[in-house]
Amino acid sequence: IVYLDGHATTPLAAEVAEAMAPYWTATGNAQSPHTRGQQAAAGIELARVQIANLIGAESQEILFTSGATEANNLVVLGVAEAARKMGLRRNKIIASAIEHRSILAVLEELAARGFRVQLAPVTPQGLVDLPALEQLLDEDTLLVSLMGANNEVGTIQPIGGAAQLAHAKGALIHSDLAQLAGKAPVDVVALDLDYASLSAHKLYGPMGVGAVFVSGIAAIKPRPLVFGGGQERGLRPGTLPTPLIVGFGAAAALADQDMMHVSQIQERLARELLTELAGRQVKVLQNAASAPRLSGSLSLSFPGVDADEIVNRLSSTVCLSTSSACSAGQIASSHVLKAMHISDKDARSVLRIYISKYNTLEDIRFAAAQISTAIGSVVVATGPSTQ
Ligand code: PLP
Repeated sequence: IVYLDGHATTPLAAEVAEAMAPYWTATGNAQSPHTRGQQAAAGIELARVQIANLIGAESQEILFTSGATEANNLVVLGVAEAARKMGLRRNKIIASAIEHRSILAVLEELAARGFRVQLAPVTPQGLVDLPALEQLLDEDTLLVSLMGANNEVGTIQPIGGAAQLAHAKGALIHSDLAQLAGKAPVDVVALDLDYASLSAHKLYGPMGVGAVFVSGIAAIKPRPLVFGGGQERGLRPGTLPTPLIVGFGAAAALADQDMMHVSQIQERLARELLTELAGRQVKVLQNAASAPRLSGSLSLSFPGVDADEIVNRLSSTVCLSTSSACSAGQIASSHVLKAMHISDKDARSVLRIYISKYNTLEDIRFAAAQISTAIGSVVVATGPSTQ
């Protein structure tokens, strides 16, 4: 089976599994004073340094969460509620129209709690429209949230530019780096970010662990979402999952080492997939083709083809995703493609691919052949009746 769904989750690296292994059995709570507790605490602190190094932060600016969803909630809800508690008059939160659901759903909640919420539009190439963002920014703006890279079309967003605009108006800036960190160089200091969210399972680490970066000089510390034993400086209490955190750290260190090499291979394979499809006369268009994108990320439109049908037909040979979310039997069009002015009809023909560092040339050739065959059979099966 060929796995090309790395935007959803990346395979666990063998080196990461190896680093985690001893921590499953040699158990100790990092808060306990004995040897096992100290070993757990040392593993966690090493991971904090490894993750901080990956994004140019200080280790004390990294706090562990269950993933990027929680990190996004913690920053956006937590900063809004902290500002309200401090009596700040700023009441508006801006995010891009193509954020992950874990930002958009938080914005809905904030709107219900009386905050003002606005979405900045994106260009047809899937990049936030900075002049439009500048227009939305005002003296009432508390926070801007702009993702590092998009999880459907792979576009790398101009977060440094957004940070400058936000700060010029006295607003704070958060970036959901779940898809960017570990895949392209990120320096939170050079980008001037106040907050960031990370997820281990998008960079060949384990599921169920992530982190927030809270800059030591951020004007507002988020208010916690849960209350308990004071871990993670009281911002995110609860016993830390040592094996997962150790794995997250190992994955960050590995990504730091092999990022350039890996992205070159991914880009070569992505080009190969397009060449193979063209060679098989498959009609395909690449979305966001001229925008800066993650290496190995492809959003492909197959005009007239139902992408869901392709994903289903190939489910046991090639793991792919569509860009649309299916909920309660209804196919909802992707908010990302919609924001890029792609029609609902065209959006239904889009396959989302992320070629991981473990994919080979044989994988890509096999996938191209399978996609081509599936499209041929779908088109024949659904084409006009000859009778
Ligand atoms: N943000 C982005 C951009 C993502 O792609 C994802 C993953 O689906 C998330 C947040 C959520 O991450 P997690 O699965 O760690 O909660």
